[in-house]
Amino acid sequence: MKGAFNKLSNSVSTLFSALFGTAARQSDHRRLTQYIVTLNQKENPEEIISEASLCLKDILNYRLFAFVIRKENGIDVWLDPRMYKKSLESVIIKDFSITNTASINYMNHQFHPDEAEWEYSMENLVSYDLLEENCQAKIYMLPNRTMLNYHDEIVNIILKSTGISLSRQMNIARLTDAAALDPLTGCYNRREFETQIQRSVADATRHKKALSVFMFDIDHFKVVNDTYGHPAGDKVLKEVAAIVSQNMRRGDTLSRYGGEEFIAILPETDKHKAMELADRLRQKIAAREVTTDQGVVRVTASFGVAQLHHNTEGSRLIQDADCMLYKAKRNGRNTVMPGLIKICTPKESDAMIAGNNG
Ligand code: GH3
Ligand code: MG
Ligand code: MG
Repeated sequence: MKGAFNKLSNSVSTLFSALFGTAARQSDHRRLTQYIVTLNQKENPEEIISEASLCLKDILNYRLFAFVIRKENGIDVWLDPRMYKKSLESVIIKDFSITNTASINYMNHQFHPDEAEWEYSMENLVSYDLLEENCQAKIYMLPNRTMLNYHDEIVNIILKSTGISLSRQMNIARLTDAAALDPLTGCYNRREFETQIQRSVADATRHKKALSVFMFDIDHFKVVNDTYGHPAGDKVLKEVAAIVSQNMRRGDTLSRYGGEEFIAILPETDKHKAMELADRLRQKIAAREVTTDQGVVRVTASFGVAQLHHNTEGSRLIQDADCMLYKAKRNGRNTVMPGLIKICTPKESDAMIAGNNG
């Protein structure tokens, strides 16, 4: 997704270099780039489309702007200004082959039966198509000025970045579907993990990038349940999962692999970096005091880390991590395997010696 945005930024630069004089180019380039960056940060469809409309108003100006997107159960429409509803609806019905206007949902307005309507000449209406992965959409505009070739380019860039943002947002929405998430912890479930690991291995192999995973399992968790009860155990599971997912990078994913065992996929990460991350998380888990109805609970976890080797499969990667996790358990738990070589400060080594003697 990041790659797609970089490509867009590059095409914005190329376009403006070719079309504008230096001063105008720099100023408009900055504006368009800034809008695209902001678009990418928006979290919901209304905000994404509203940002796109602001950008087009600012750079191109328009009398009418509509963003129309096909959803599973109908059509979503973002319209500005509202007075063009009826005339635009007739166009949408045709373009999107709709039989029932009840399936049109207006995202930014609620209409009354006696709304004021404005007319416009159909030949001035321009439209742009988008076919992004899981997202079919169209922009309609009534420009206030004659549209030149480079105006088309600008609209297409905005349309493309809007599509990417919406498509990403729709992917997130799809994943909130119970089918992909573990209801207790909110992490991805095992089934979703199997899909993701295949995709990640294929990506890493194709682009010759590093890929690591770590697997971890809460130590002596049975004792937690036996001592504090199952609901307290559930709370511990939730908090441990939250500690880990809140401390990973954006592209990393955490899944619940089974009972009290989790697995994280770390794209573009080598084993050493993965071990460092696992060790930081191990320390955070050990330091956390989980407050439950039955008292404060502290747990530790053991970690197994592995990196994808060339010409091996995802299943081998998981096997390696599992094997390392087993070693971590054998090594006394609350540890990461393979382990980082620790360089102690003189103070720390004194403390260790004193501890061992004591
Ligand atoms: P080890 O350090 O070797 O991993 O010991 P352990 O006690 O954690 O491992 P064991 O496999 O013996 O026990 C795992 C426990 O995790 C038993 C099971 O009831 C508990 N568990 C699994 N899923 C859940 C859950 O969703 N909620 C709660 N509260 N407990 C769970
Ligand atoms: Mg365990
Ligand atoms: Mg276990």
